[in-house]
Amino acid sequence: MLGTGTLKPSPKRYGSGVLLDIGGLKLLLDCGPSVVQKLYSAGIDATELDAVFLSHFHVDHTSDLPDLISSYAADRLGNPRKPERPLMLIGPPGLVDFLENLIDRNPYYSYVGEWNRMLKLVEPVEIGDSEGLKIKDVVLRFTEVDHPNGYAIRVNVGDLSVTYSGDTAPTESLVGLASGTDLLIHECTFPSEALMGKHSSEKGLAEVASKAAPRTLVVTHLSPAWAGREHEIVDALRVSYRGRVVIAYDLLEVRVV
Ligand SMILES: [Zn+2]
Ligand SMILES: [Zn+2]
Repeated sequence: MLGTGTLKPSPKRYGSGVLLDIGGLKLLLDCGPSVVQKLYSAGIDATELDAVFLSHFHVDHTSDLPDLISSYAADRLGNPRKPERPLMLIGPPGLVDFLENLIDRNPYYSYVGEWNRMLKLVEPVEIGDSEGLKIKDVVLRFTEVDHPNGYAIRVNVGDLSVTYSGDTAPTESLVGLASGTDLLIHECTFPSEALMGKHSSEKGLAEVASKAAPRTLVVTHLSPAWAGREHEIVDALRVSYRGRVVIAYDLLEVRVV
């Protein structure tokens, strides 16, 4: 028998977006569906970001980018004396072409492209494997992963670090980048029996986690197939990984100290 008292609502998980507030820097990792609205819901002004990293170009990681750029334009147009501070947009090789297709060559979005050029809103930075970047005291490193155009990022400030996999099948390049990191945010899209494409299951994730040995593992990018059986991920991880495990959901906040 079904009754409201017997069912626990599943946590909401929609689109990809992780905000790192680290070393005085606000860095958004991916900009998927509803990320701009969720930032505002969390009390964060989306136009105060310092940089955005796109792990790859799939729609669940990039679809809110036109909205984000429009928000910057509206903010700047409404505050003409606001100091010019372009948003650094970091992404895989092909980022400039992706951005041009999204907002310049699309006749219905080209006004966003015009705002972008006129107001110098976004500064695209294409990364390559093993290249790094420094913003203030924060060091960013990247590695190519096993997913179309996919890159992972490691963010270091002082002796604190966070690593984000983006989408990927289990890969040694990610293990190398994440080795000994304080916090690893890693995808686990499908249960092993339903694994499709270049993604990770609980078994692959357990292998990566035991090798990289982060202090804390945040498991993210869960497909609806996981609803109600997330504990199976923890069970699979516990065979070989002893660190703290957090299963992510929308608006989850994790402190790294
Ligand atoms: Zn993808
Ligand atoms: Zn994805």
